Amino acid sequence: MQYDETLIRNVVAQVLAEVGPMPPGNGAAQQAAQQAASAGGHNGVFYDAESAVSAARAAFEQLRERTLADRKRIIDVIRRISIEQCEELGTMEMEETKIGRLEHKIEKLKTLGEQTPGVEFLETKAFSGDYGLAVIDRAPFGVIGAITPVTHSLPTITGNAVSMIAGGNTVVVNPHPSGKKVAAEGVRRFNEAIEAEIGIDNLICVIAEPTLESAEALFKHRSVALICVTGGPAVGRAALNSGKRAIVAGPGNPPVVVDETADLDLAARSIITGGAYDNNLLCIAEKEVFVVDSVFDAMMDAMRRAGAVQLNAAQIAELTSKAIVTVGDDQHDAACKDYIGKDASFLAAAAGVSVPPETELVFGETDEHHPFVSVEQMMPFMPFVRARDVDHAIAMAKHYEHGFRHTAIIHSRNVRNMTKMGRELDTTLYVKNGPCMASLGLGGEGYLSFSIAGPTGEGVTTPTTFTRERRCSMIGELRVV
Ligand code: NAD
Repeated sequence: MQYDETLIRNVVAQVLAEVGPMPPGNGAAQQAAQQAASAGGHNGVFYDAESAVSAARAAFEQLRERTLADRKRIIDVIRRISIEQCEELGTMEMEETKIGRLEHKIEKLKTLGEQTPGVEFLETKAFSGDYGLAVIDRAPFGVIGAITPVTHSLPTITGNAVSMIAGGNTVVVNPHPSGKKVAAEGVRRFNEAIEAEIGIDNLICVIAEPTLESAEALFKHRSVALICVTGGPAVGRAALNSGKRAIVAGPGNPPVVVDETADLDLAARSIITGGAYDNNLLCIAEKEVFVVDSVFDAMMDAMRRAGAVQLNAAQIAELTSKAIVTVGDDQHDAACKDYIGKDASFLAAAAGVSVPPETELVFGETDEHHPFVSVEQMMPFMPFVRARDVDHAIAMAKHYEHGFRHTAIIHSRNVRNMTKMGRELDTTLYVKNGPCMASLGLGGEGYLSFSIAGPTGEGVTTPTTFTRERRCSMIGELRVV
């Protein structure tokens, strides 16, 4: 067959002119986006909320015809990709967001693939009595609108997708603009493999060019039945003002209390493990430490023994002048974006100190009014504050947790102190004698999710979180005992 090269060029130019310029990104995501733009969306990658929601709605209609075994097959595909491709996708996330630590980006995807609860988590309840039988099942909502943070772009999508699909839903994600490429590429890979496995596309959709307007469109869309946001205070407020039911996984500023009965070496290792993980990007991560005066100096020794590097007062002041900025009409303190999620050695250099690049955490003594105590800094610098006694330490911990009721940690062997702090702080997660991630089943009991809904009360989200209760009553029959 003869091809008219000029004609082909003209047709391609015309199509490209209609589709418009492609955003920057890696090749595979661009290809998917190109297909999405020209074919109204493909493999979950869309450019506007309207077409993403209608594709997710169509996918939901197909999913509801399928069995629980099919849901499990879909989830197994997501698990397989996030485990087998964790290095490639984790590297992509690191290169795009430029925050955190590569080994932890990789580990987060692998762990979420392995440990996020699936369909087995859904429970049926039954009431059987003289009047017959009532069965209570967990039903899907339909299309869920999700907002995800830059701190864990694809990991949050992965965990949300597993939980939401296990519950029988589909999802449209408006990711953080600084993590949009890895979000689109991960979603494209998930959908492509799911479509090959069970023949349904667009179970997980993503808006490839997310904006506040596309988030707003998602919040307002009549086919979006439920909203799940993971992020800071502004997005939580926006979701709660949307007029829809919202599950809000909001900010934290997790305090640590160390009392005079604590195993100080264990406390130091735990604070470094949790506080330095992914350069302190976890919302559950240790952010400030209150130590009773009688063991304060010994605790600082233990931190140094465990490998953290101590900064002196002048060095902390130098770091603070760069890493903390004032923002807003009220000129409140906030973490400087250029320092969030950076390595401890980068923070040390900003403080005028040279430390080995493998240093996990820098730390130092501050007073309670220091901005590193009150701000959710998301940096591997840990402020340590002297407390008169454990009651003073707990009172300061409560104050600087800001009422988020997110996460708190104590190192103690005194059950009275543990109980008092647990009651006073009233947090969703409370860890005793371990690093923060033990509360998510990583080195502790329980299960994993990266969306911990404190403000709206669902806690560590699971497939059940994304379901509606439905009751089916049989009158007078089917009780066979
Ligand atoms: P962020 O609040 O800046 O952004 C989160 C998401 O919300 C992004 O997608 C952003 O584009 C969007 N957003 C922001 N304002 C919005 C608005 N008015 N309307 C609609 N969307 C809006 O947070 P971040 O820096 O990406 O992530 C870090 C924050 O997330 C921290 O506060 C951390 O504690 C929190 N977080 C909480 C959990 C949890 O499970 N509770 C998990 C991870 C992160």
